[in-house]
Amino acid sequence: MTTPVETKPLLTDRIVIVGAGLAALYAALELAPRPVLMISPEPLGLGASSAWAQGGVAAAMAKSDSAEAHASDTFNAGDGTVDAEVADMVTRMARDHILDLTELGAPFDRDAQGNYVMSREAAHSAARVVRVRGDQAGQQIMQTLIEEVRATASIQVIEGTEALRLETKDNGVTGVWVRRSDLPSAPVLISCPGVLLAGGGSGGLFAHTTNPPRIRGQVIGLAARAGARIADAEFVQFHPTAVDCGEDPAPLATEALRGEGATLINSDGQRFMLDQHPDAELAPRDVVARGIFAETQAGRRPMLDTRDALGAEVLTRFPALAETCARAGIDPVKDPIPVAVAAHYHMGGIETDMRGRASLDHLWVSGEAASTGLHGANRLASNGLLEALVYARRAAVDIADSIAMPSAPVAELRPEFTADGQPMDADAVQQLRQTMTTHVGMRRNAAGLRQALATLVALETAQSQDEGFLNMCATATLIATSALERRESRGGHFRTDYPQAEPALAQRSQTTLAAAQALRDRVLNSL
Ligand SMILES: Cc1cc2nc3c(=O)[nH]c(=O)nc-3n(C[C@H](O)[C@H](O)[C@H](O)COP(=O)(O)OP(=O)(O)OC[C@H]3O[C@@H](n4cnc5c(N)ncnc54)[C@H](O)[C@@H]3O)c2cc1C
Repeated sequence: MTTPVETKPLLTDRIVIVGAGLAALYAALELAPRPVLMISPEPLGLGASSAWAQGGVAAAMAKSDSAEAHASDTFNAGDGTVDAEVADMVTRMARDHILDLTELGAPFDRDAQGNYVMSREAAHSAARVVRVRGDQAGQQIMQTLIEEVRATASIQVIEGTEALRLETKDNGVTGVWVRRSDLPSAPVLISCPGVLLAGGGSGGLFAHTTNPPRIRGQVIGLAARAGARIADAEFVQFHPTAVDCGEDPAPLATEALRGEGATLINSDGQRFMLDQHPDAELAPRDVVARGIFAETQAGRRPMLDTRDALGAEVLTRFPALAETCARAGIDPVKDPIPVAVAAHYHMGGIETDMRGRASLDHLWVSGEAASTGLHGANRLASNGLLEALVYARRAAVDIADSIAMPSAPVAELRPEFTADGQPMDADAVQQLRQTMTTHVGMRRNAAGLRQALATLVALETAQSQDEGFLNMCATATLIATSALERRESRGGHFRTDYPQAEPALAQRSQTTLAAAQALRDRVLNSL
């Protein structure tokens, strides 16, 4: 592992924000005028799930709706492990964030009276998802925030850079090691008063995913390697309707389409969800995902049929889907769209309290990298962006309360990187991702999870020089060991050897990387 001990750390009074998605941008703006340094692997706007979000943000904006109803739906979707206090707080805050984003210029769809136009998504008891031009929410909200960030003097963004490791002393974080993200380079230590991790989830650890290639659990992994506590790692949400057109990542057909009446049929023309849940296509995501997966496994290709519900309007009302279909040679006006499940959202992550604090001092987390207790075992649709907004603000408030504002102007930081090391081994990455899809995906069992752990440890040993890869392996190991430990099925976690939910196990899980590795070693030694 490259650790250039002779390199002097760069010292700064800026708060370092790792990542540049919704949680990072919003937190940076909330922290202004406090100086921050944002580490972004790609040019702003690229590489983040946030820009790919199609449905929108869940918020009870209609007069006929309420935060209480939103909290109750969140609680029910989470299948017994949602933290009720967190769900109450987040759903109560939702309205303010939508109004603030609107003020900043986010162009949410409005009707002639100025009311927000809302989509209905699965497991919501009301149409409650504010959206932008059908399926353009993520991109448009990100654009609004990026313009604001670019215009805010206190925010320094370093593009083309990624975080690799946290520097710690006693139980606290004192800095972050970064390197170039586009070329192999020696890491440089930035010492700073506090770090906010907003590096997204881990869907890209799976071979079939809707997440951008950058989102591979690296930031959860680097926090875990520094000793931060991890919660609910086993709970991964698989999206039922990724378009099955051979692309990696798989493009999404937003759930809002089913909210508009699109149905799911198989190659025999059967609406297979009717038998499986009273809400059929609008059942909770895990139920629909299992329905789709079963059809795929049985060789009856599942498809999303928008023809009756939307006709030719699908092309204008859902431009992202129209573009995907055009690329794949599918005409959704005439033909149903082939779909398959894909890893989509990680409910688990770095354990975070209601102030956005991780278990290490001077470390905050917001967005999908965090596990706050909001989602339980199964995230309610469009609560992901909402959680990112709410926790970005809460973390910013807590940072302001905990760390004194610099008394003098703070200079910008200019890290200089020297070429060093090798690019990540693409074959090893692909092997890791395929292992996760095969053994840690929609259907899990003890034998498969043990097999996954054996592969992960072999890959980790072979790639021990590459810290980025070790970060991915750390998160993958946490997911697989936590899945092995949870001997029941609940929400997104389904065990074929324990297919029922056990009421006594209806609680969140907590672990550390050291505990996960010890469990892995015990399991592999007993084979
Ligand atoms: C296709 C798709 C559609 C979705 N639709 C919706 C929706 O409609 N509604 C909803 O609520 N949720 C939706 N989600 C989920 C939601 O988009 C995410 O949960 C949310 O955007 C996460 O925001 P974030 O800021 O935490 O992470 P992201 O937006 O993923 O940003 C993470 C950032 O961290 C950076 N990063 C990664 N690794 C490193 C590193 N090592 N060092 C530095 N930076 C790093 C990335 O480049 C990126 O800038 C969707 C997700 C996908 C993939």
